[in-house]
Amino acid sequence: YYNHQTIIYLDGEFTKASSASTDLYGQSLHYGYAAFEGIRAYKTVSGDVRIFKAHEHFERLKRSCELIHIPYKFDNKELIDACYKVLEMNGMDEAYIRPLVFCPPLMTLKPAETSSILIAAWGWGAYLGEDLLRVMTSSFERPNPKAFMIESKSSGLYINSILATQEAKEKGFDEALLLDINGFVAEASGANIFYEKDGKVYTPPLGHILPGITRATLIELCNELNIPLEEKKFTINDLKSADAAFLCGTAAEVAGMKSLDEYEFPKTWERSVGYRLQQAYKNRVVERSSELV
Ligand code: PMP
Repeated sequence: YYNHQTIIYLDGEFTKASSASTDLYGQSLHYGYAAFEGIRAYKTVSGDVRIFKAHEHFERLKRSCELIHIPYKFDNKELIDACYKVLEMNGMDEAYIRPLVFCPPLMTLKPAETSSILIAAWGWGAYLGEDLLRVMTSSFERPNPKAFMIESKSSGLYINSILATQEAKEKGFDEALLLDINGFVAEASGANIFYEKDGKVYTPPLGHILPGITRATLIELCNELNIPLEEKKFTINDLKSADAAFLCGTAAEVAGMKSLDEYEFPKTWERSVGYRLQQAYKNRVVERSSELV
């Protein structure tokens, strides 16, 4: 992710990743008390570098911190400028950008009184492996919203995703799909889910899921493209009678699903609504305007 020349942003300074350090007595390290974002920069059709939905990501970061009482004294506009500067200083155009808000040394369970922010980036071009995903229903549930602020993209919460991913890989699958505490489908370990049935697309409502920015973008695209969409709770059985399904997230973009457990989705991916949305999304991130055709 970095070499001895890589520059990161740390609390207002641009500094070498290899010489930056943090305190070993921080709450973030000990309790996973931190919040982060995953953002992507694309080279657009005009040749400029654009950070996709930068404002939305930094607003979510702010909300993630507020929900778990981590002070957020940063100016999002300055942070977005800092992201562009990090890209420029590292000579990157297609990149993944990782802001992380973390807390100073404190070995008690009191909320932090101040926080730090780092912004790292690493080169990440177009993902070429377009293989359809084989997904398994995880034995792990998403955390109970009464036990955690699940809409906060906070570091500690990701142990749940690591456990689910490990289980899926160990069983030979590509991804894990997790249910909520009431047995409805929630989301994958690092992506939201949609399915298609009779030409209409469905996705779980907010409440037990991370409010994905890609999910919101796809909802926007459905409206623009007149694709009927409904946010509703559904079960694994509903999903196993779907025509097609796909995951979406900043990293995954729109990724078609081949199967869920033993069930294979019958519709050819290239003929599915998900495929149309995948193309529209790819156009949107590089600011190509042909998606309405
Ligand atoms: N759900 C989870 C659990 C995630 O980690 C992610 C990735 N941030 C998503 C959904 C998708 O969110 P986004 O589209 O904002 O990347």
